[in-house]
Amino acid sequence: MSCKAGLRHHPIRLRKTVLSEELFPQRASIPPVVLLPPDLSAWNVTNTDIPGVITFEAHAPGPDLVITGLLHGNEFASGHVLERLRRTPPILTSGRLTLIVANLEAFKCFQVRQPLAARYLEEDMNRVWNTHRLRGSETSHELRRAREIEPFIRRADLLLDLHSTLWPSEAFFIAPHVKRSMDFAAGLASAQGLPSAIVSDLGHQGGARLIEYDRFAATVGAGRGCLLEAGQHWQPETLRTMGQTVEVFLQNIEGLHLHAKTGGPQQTAHSFFVTDNVVARSADFTFTQLWEGGTTIPHAGTVIAHDGRDVICTPYDDCVLIIPNHRPHLGQLAVRLARRTAW
Ligand SMILES: [Zn+2]
Repeated sequence: MSCKAGLRHHPIRLRKTVLSEELFPQRASIPPVVLLPPDLSAWNVTNTDIPGVITFEAHAPGPDLVITGLLHGNEFASGHVLERLRRTPPILTSGRLTLIVANLEAFKCFQVRQPLAARYLEEDMNRVWNTHRLRGSETSHELRRAREIEPFIRRADLLLDLHSTLWPSEAFFIAPHVKRSMDFAAGLASAQGLPSAIVSDLGHQGGARLIEYDRFAATVGAGRGCLLEAGQHWQPETLRTMGQTVEVFLQNIEGLHLHAKTGGPQQTAHSFFVTDNVVARSADFTFTQLWEGGTTIPHAGTVIAHDGRDVICTPYDDCVLIIPNHRPHLGQLAVRLARRTAW
């Protein structure tokens, strides 16, 4: 568990001295699959000869845009958005747009009766983007696929990576902790009607996300990348949020590329930094209520979960819960805690 010294007011994990008789809420049930999977059969044969990768090129040179979706095979709201773009491509005045259905094979395994199983085939495809893993000798379905699509990622000036969450959450952007990519996320989050929150962190212990690929996250580099968590995987509202974000992205290519800015009506963007990762140390980690992602807990010391004989408390006032996992396994990330930062 990491923390920023000096920011903490209250310990996060406390051992209960007396076992209480209080009843904890039942474990949450998996949200229903309301939005059904798209038909992505047209992505098997593409104009790049790589399944799941389609490019559109303007006659004039310009920025290289990449929109990725389905890095996680059960997050298919992004598949709907990409399929719409394939059917009705945007008119590009310059540059090139590449659309990537990243884990197409995992998506093909999706079954409504087992909606979690298709997240990946062998490993999380959004944890393999370290250079040493991409260049190493290890192999897995997801690593092979990452190596296959890497040439398109490597040349991207702007990358928008579309995701959704299993548990209900406010939509938000995630940016690597590098100014050019944070500015890009802020440019989108400042466009009226889009999610206004930007979360940044120092990465995941399990490996690098696509947005942490060197092109977007190295100190020196040219590409800007950010990720959108657009809401719950299988809710129509999530698809709307993704669709609107992609629309704003495509309408503001030049402004985002040159200045990380969008035109049109603006709103105030809010920036948050992850201070702590709370990992389940018991098999019966349970939140005190079905906290929605993005909830702000006003007071330090508020009990938000029980973990075996421990209680989990918020460490500071106005603590924001990032993607609470209402069914964490032992050793799994249960929630990330974030605090608002000045821009
Ligand atoms: Zn995802």
